[in-house]
Amino acid sequence: MSSLEHKRHTLAHLLAKAVLGDYPEAKLAIGPAIDNGFYYDIDFGNGPVPTDATLERIEARMKKFLFCWDSFSHRTVSGEAARQLFADNPYKLEIVNELISKGETITLYTVGSGESEFTDLCRGGHSENPKKDIAGDSFKLDKIAGAYWRGDETKPMLTRIYGLAFDTKDELDAYVAQVEEAKKRDHKKLGPELDIFTFSPLVGPGLPLWTPKGTMLRNLLDDYVWRLRRAAGYDRVEIPHITKKDLYITSGHWDKFKDELFRITTREGHEFAMKPMNCPHHTQIYARKMWSYRELPQRYANTTTCYRDEQSGELSGLSRVRAFAQDDAHVFCRMSQARDEFIKIWDIVHTFYGAFGFKLRVRISKHDPENPDAYLGDKARWELAEGILEGIAAEKNADSFIGIGEAAFYGPKLDFMAKDAIGREWQVATIQLDMNMPERFDLTCVNEKGEKERIVMIHAAIMGSIERFMSILIEHTAGNFPLWLSPEQIRVIPVAEAHHDYAQHVFDGLIDIGIRATLDASNETLGKRIRAAKNDKLPYFVVIGDKEVAAKNLTLESRDGGSRQVELEALGNDLLAEVETKKI
Ligand SMILES: [Zn+2]
Ligand SMILES: [Zn+2]
Repeated sequence: MSSLEHKRHTLAHLLAKAVLGDYPEAKLAIGPAIDNGFYYDIDFGNGPVPTDATLERIEARMKKFLFCWDSFSHRTVSGEAARQLFADNPYKLEIVNELISKGETITLYTVGSGESEFTDLCRGGHSENPKKDIAGDSFKLDKIAGAYWRGDETKPMLTRIYGLAFDTKDELDAYVAQVEEAKKRDHKKLGPELDIFTFSPLVGPGLPLWTPKGTMLRNLLDDYVWRLRRAAGYDRVEIPHITKKDLYITSGHWDKFKDELFRITTREGHEFAMKPMNCPHHTQIYARKMWSYRELPQRYANTTTCYRDEQSGELSGLSRVRAFAQDDAHVFCRMSQARDEFIKIWDIVHTFYGAFGFKLRVRISKHDPENPDAYLGDKARWELAEGILEGIAAEKNADSFIGIGEAAFYGPKLDFMAKDAIGREWQVATIQLDMNMPERFDLTCVNEKGEKERIVMIHAAIMGSIERFMSILIEHTAGNFPLWLSPEQIRVIPVAEAHHDYAQHVFDGLIDIGIRATLDASNETLGKRIRAAKNDKLPYFVVIGDKEVAAKNLTLESRDGGSRQVELEALGNDLLAEVETKKI
């Protein structure tokens, strides 16, 4: 446990102590450290429950007690003594009884003295000297929520008080600022505001609908990935969105995915399923004929929608949906070709994410040697495969780390993490080596000796789920899409009716060379139309008045407030050149 975790855990005790000051009848349940701080679940019974307004008072009390907490002491107690001690607290009692039944020792931790003294049932892991170790301004209470005891909805609902805690005030402030910024960028808010996607109660939750603008964005992204793939020798394939049950029995997904599968029974009583992934279908394209080793690798790319029956409570905007398109691809090759194929995909991943200014880290996800039964295939092949991945990360001089036990059961992976504009890290693309599916579907090639040789399969989605990638991209850019990706790249705004003809001429010229321009000659005031262009986060707009008509010279206004003079003749080519650079 890191010392920050110790601090957070200590602060949970401090929160409990402070709460008891105002609510002596409250029953404490559990209070762990979490990713950004700590919480404590508390049963306030029929008495008053703290509100956001009382959090401040509780926080002040925490700071007062912290000043008196300079060391923890602990003692072991017998099961019977612990039962007596917590006789009127059903939550602690339940934990005590569990510890007794598992034959574990029961420890109590005490900190402070006199008025500040506090004892709690605990396993330890605290700051040695809270007063000295924890800066009084490095934490704050955050919010109150309801939480079922043990996360079980049949059990009592408790009050959870959350606190944020970091090593320093600066880190706390930075985190709070990041959360604020994230709220402003929330794709669930921005997406509909910018008219990118929508949900319909008739279609159902988790099933996003894409507007013309959103569809344009998706297609542009997909075209970009396809351009990179085509250069790496990929071919496009297409598959139906349903399959007979037999395919998933063979692949093992019928069992593994059974809760997430949307199942269909035909009128003749045959069982089908909507596809939750594309790999099994793609194996059957490969399996259509016998391949010579000379014809490998076979590289199939396919952007296509998958369906998973996620639980309603888990659905969230575009991050977790029931229907999502994958920019999927599978490479069928010999093990000896896997390295080169990985490198090709690696380069595509870096070019693609680099175009948006994401910084990538890569996790080399390896098997856990202490748990060999969890993985398929023989040890030598795993070591060979993992060695290949480590070699690539080293050769590319990548910011990489090893994740033991993070491999899929069928093979090791490279998992890419992208840091966004406000410092959050998202897991994005993965490249996975699969030694299982070729086995299950008996995929082979004929090698140099004329013998059948087992091949391997590489899963290589770049965006992964386009829906999820869009959610990350919207929040990363705050809706300010680069010019090449903007559904509407420039708006032409005539000042008055006298300028309409000229504005139309400018607009036509842009459309002719393939710029996604619009013309706003509506009756709204000029001020209103300019505000609308800014609200829509258009990369550029131009206002056409007397001066522009006379001089054939335009002022190109950009959404960041900058402007520059451009000759009408040069405008289109300037924009095309910027599109080509994919500048952010
Ligand atoms: Zn503790
Ligand atoms: Zn796959």
